[in-house]
Amino acid sequence: MLQFEETSAGTAGILRQPADAGLAPAQASADGAELRRVNVADKRIINGQTDVNQLVPFKYKWAWDKYLSACANHWMPQEIQMSRDIELWKNPNGLTEDERRIVKRNLGFFVTADSLAANNIVLGTYRHITAPECRQYLLRQAFEEAIHTHAYQYIVESLGLNEGEIFNAYHEVPSIRAKDEFLIPFIDVLTNPSFKTGTPENDQKLLKSLIVFACLMEGLFFYVGFAQILALGRQNKMTGAAEQYQYILRDESMHCNFGIDLINTIKLENPHLWTAEFREELRELFHKGVELEYRYAEDTMPRGVLGLNAAMFKEYLRFIANRRAQQIGLDPLFEGATNPFPWMAEMIDLKKERNFFETRVIEYQTGGALSWD
Ligand code: FE
Repeated sequence: MLQFEETSAGTAGILRQPADAGLAPAQASADGAELRRVNVADKRIINGQTDVNQLVPFKYKWAWDKYLSACANHWMPQEIQMSRDIELWKNPNGLTEDERRIVKRNLGFFVTADSLAANNIVLGTYRHITAPECRQYLLRQAFEEAIHTHAYQYIVESLGLNEGEIFNAYHEVPSIRAKDEFLIPFIDVLTNPSFKTGTPENDQKLLKSLIVFACLMEGLFFYVGFAQILALGRQNKMTGAAEQYQYILRDESMHCNFGIDLINTIKLENPHLWTAEFREELRELFHKGVELEYRYAEDTMPRGVLGLNAAMFKEYLRFIANRRAQQIGLDPLFEGATNPFPWMAEMIDLKKERNFFETRVIEYQTGGALSWD
């Protein structure tokens, strides 16, 4: 019988299942080998002992539903016209210096941010999650992160920006570097090959990393940049880039919601992890996240631009942080914060009104790519 080394959860449960692993009674197969069937009640998001290859029976239907919705939202960057953006960018009077700064800083952050997110999923989170429904969504999410990196690269290339400057911004621009330096320890903990879940201490480390990614990276660090580019689009500037950001925002808002469902289900299944001390640590991380994103807002907007200014973003970030905190069951951090950009909600809620495929006639190459002779 095949046996795999037990890593955290990456291969645990594949073919090698302990007798008390919550399996249906063994049945004899034709060749006499034991077949073990997954009992839905025994599935767990972390530290599960059931076979990670058996998607059904479903236990976490919300994860499967999000996978289906994500697939229904599929889009590709190169199908969006960039000619108006290129014309505007090349026109010396097309944009102000402050508007150009916003575009370059935005791309400087995002062009590597989604690679960090993808690597965190593929090399970190994925192997520690033992629910196949959640793994299925994470596979889709990882591909979406690749599409987003593709989109930013496509904008950089279309506008003819200095690639060395943009792709190195996360090393060279302090406000961007500070955000990434905050995140990297939470990636490293999960990608360390010797890290395994299964103790309260390590399970808290995993949970903390999931919270930092869903609530602070995808749920907060993306929002100054999204609001800025969408504000440009609302003024009929950089409309191709803005359209791509709109699809990215829709995807990211689902990543964030999936992450929150994942976190809350882990909490339900492991209530002992949610200690007062742990919650206090999270509150400090939220404060730090807001501070870093606010510094980024100030750096990208030294003056008011597009009817926006850094002070409005301070309020916006406090509003978002409160919402993320409440979504995972923490008390709000900033009393009375309100949303200065209610129009952002409409941007997230693209839904059916503007389905990517309904606005375009696209011939996909599935037939052409498959050659049978
Ligand atoms: Fe994401």
